Amino acid sequence: MTVPEMFGCKVFDDRQMRARLSAEVYASLKETIDNGKKLDLSVANSVAQAMCAWATENGATHFTHWFQPMTGITAEKHDGFISPAPNGGVIMEFSGKELIQGEPDASSFPSGGLRATFEARGYTAWDPTSYAFLKENTLCIPTAFCSYGGEALDKKTPLLRSMEALNRQAMRILKLFGNEDVKRVITSVGPEQEYFLVDREMYLKRKDLVYTGRTLFGAMPPKGQELEDHYFGAIKPRVQAFMEDLNEELWKLGILAKTEHNEVAPAQHELAPIYTTTNVATDHNQLTMEIMKKVARKHGLACLLHEKPFAGVNGSGKHNNWSMATNTGMNLLNPGDTPAENAQFLLFLVAVIKAVDEYQDLLRLSVATAGNDHRLGANEAPPAVISIFLGDELNAILEAVEKDEPYAGTEKKRIRLGADVLPRFNRDTTDRNRTSPFAFTGNKFEFRMVGSSNSIACANIMTNASVAEALRQFADVLEGAEDFDAALHELLRDTIRAHKRIIFNGNGYDDAWIKEAEEERGLLNLRTTPDALSRLVDRKNIDMLLRHRIYSEAEVHSRYEIQLENYIRTVRIEALTMVDMAQKDILPAVMAYGSDLAAAIGRKKAVSADIAAGYETRLVGRLDDLTDRIDAAAAALNDAVKELDAISDFVAQGDFTRDDIIPKMAALRSVCDEAETLTAASYWPFPTYGDLLFGV
Ligand code: ADP
Ligand code: MG
Repeated sequence: MTVPEMFGCKVFDDRQMRARLSAEVYASLKETIDNGKKLDLSVANSVAQAMCAWATENGATHFTHWFQPMTGITAEKHDGFISPAPNGGVIMEFSGKELIQGEPDASSFPSGGLRATFEARGYTAWDPTSYAFLKENTLCIPTAFCSYGGEALDKKTPLLRSMEALNRQAMRILKLFGNEDVKRVITSVGPEQEYFLVDREMYLKRKDLVYTGRTLFGAMPPKGQELEDHYFGAIKPRVQAFMEDLNEELWKLGILAKTEHNEVAPAQHELAPIYTTTNVATDHNQLTMEIMKKVARKHGLACLLHEKPFAGVNGSGKHNNWSMATNTGMNLLNPGDTPAENAQFLLFLVAVIKAVDEYQDLLRLSVATAGNDHRLGANEAPPAVISIFLGDELNAILEAVEKDEPYAGTEKKRIRLGADVLPRFNRDTTDRNRTSPFAFTGNKFEFRMVGSSNSIACANIMTNASVAEALRQFADVLEGAEDFDAALHELLRDTIRAHKRIIFNGNGYDDAWIKEAEEERGLLNLRTTPDALSRLVDRKNIDMLLRHRIYSEAEVHSRYEIQLENYIRTVRIEALTMVDMAQKDILPAVMAYGSDLAAAIGRKKAVSADIAAGYETRLVGRLDDLTDRIDAAAAALNDAVKELDAISDFVAQGDFTRDDIIPKMAALRSVCDEAETLTAASYWPFPTYGDLLFGV
């Protein structure tokens, strides 16, 4: 099969719809997809029939409503197409009702108090804007997931609401600039996905990788990433075979996998798709992560999506490239060629700047997980402080606007925005700042704080919501203005003045920057998940999310609870895994080595009383001391987990996890890693960092 033939062959996409639906049904469905028109049941019935025919022709026997509960992964429950026929046989059947709505038992999914236990039912509702696809023998229908009371129990519903909110507000602005032909504004996303590949046999020998997705122990090997020889390096044959297979699987699902390369750390790689509509990109990213794991297995590999699988080398993130475009194809973040377009562009640009400054906390907490805390708060890129990179040229233009000064890039005219004298400027292609958490890269913003295992839904919900709010305030001012040009000019200038503290074009990894950000600029530095999450329920944030109908108040609280509980549970599992490995694997190994050494000392001394066996004796002493310390550290951690379990309030549990459990984990790790460096390799109970990082 050629790539064009293969592409989307497992998707009930526009080509299939066109071919299999009557002209009226197709037109009606298209109205629903493009403009959100309500779907009527007769149309749904026809679509369901066509979908079923297509799916069964392609070997499907089951269908499922595929959804994204708040766990951050995807869920599915399979139903057969079979239905008894009068002649004793069966027919394959699928109704419009089954397509539009499903009723999974919601009781086993986290609801953060949203679903009373007596009301266990939830329902799933078809998202016709994301195509149905085939996974093995199952037709998967992308859906939203709600409680019976109508509260969103998933990540897709608020994501769709946030896209709608942004559309509403951006349309108000576009009207003011006279864009009569525009019907909708759509946000697009291209998420770059980083991951590690390790040998599967080795992976299975490490309980920490199996239970938690990251190494909880491991001394640094002599070689890490210091030679910088892995980034963009030649791809090894085994990895190459994996990537080829992965691309094919993704293409079949209509996922535009485009770029692949080695990343900075050994065994680290990246895959980037071509961008698409935000909710589709989110569905596709979930599928990409799932398929990466599946394909890796086939190649005798394990794919690690954790943000920090290895201490001491780079962690993995997901760069969320985000932009807004009209249904007519105009990218609102594309600096245009004519002054009028430039004014409109600048307004949208400044809206993002204002949004990111005012809702730093929401953006930060949208990516807050136990795993991601190892990147953001630690000595790693990007920092937990949010700032925006604009590049030199844009920066100079904004400065000129702010100060009402001539822009040096043009013939020294005073800039009056909205008026016809705004300078032309080209996209900034010079500096590609890699350290900025929120970087303008020519015609889009790249949010780099998203963790590699995160669903991108939350980051985009908060981005869309914050920008919608900034646009709403702009529209309120401009719609009431008597002199539009003057009002626009003032609005841009005042907004830049108020929010320029968030713009930073320097090195984001620099300690001096963190100090400046916190002390001089008053920017937030929310290093840990509990620190960040508590801001979700700040009045200012709840009010904004309510105003744009992205969450209800109860939904906001439920997210707080679920995300914090997820943090606590994740760390708790890690702590227990550490205790288990220390007691059952590491201590016995160190002891076995020590006792063999002791036996060797005995044998040597039996040869002659003059033999000192100094090396062995010293080593036995050190190992003996270490086993005591490992034992004590493991016991302390184990006790701390018991203490954690005795706390009833989830906020207090979160604080205790951060302040007590995590430091005790670090203490246990440090003694165990020291023991690893002293224990003979043949005694060490699991593959080392060197084995894992350089073993493929
Ligand atoms: P880099 O590594 O230099 O950031 P990549 O090519 O790896 O570049 O990733 C860029 C990502 O940005 C791709 O997923 C691409 O499709 C996406 N992208 C490009 N233009 C837009 C846009 N207008 N809106 C959203 N995403 C975009
Ligand atoms: Mg990038």
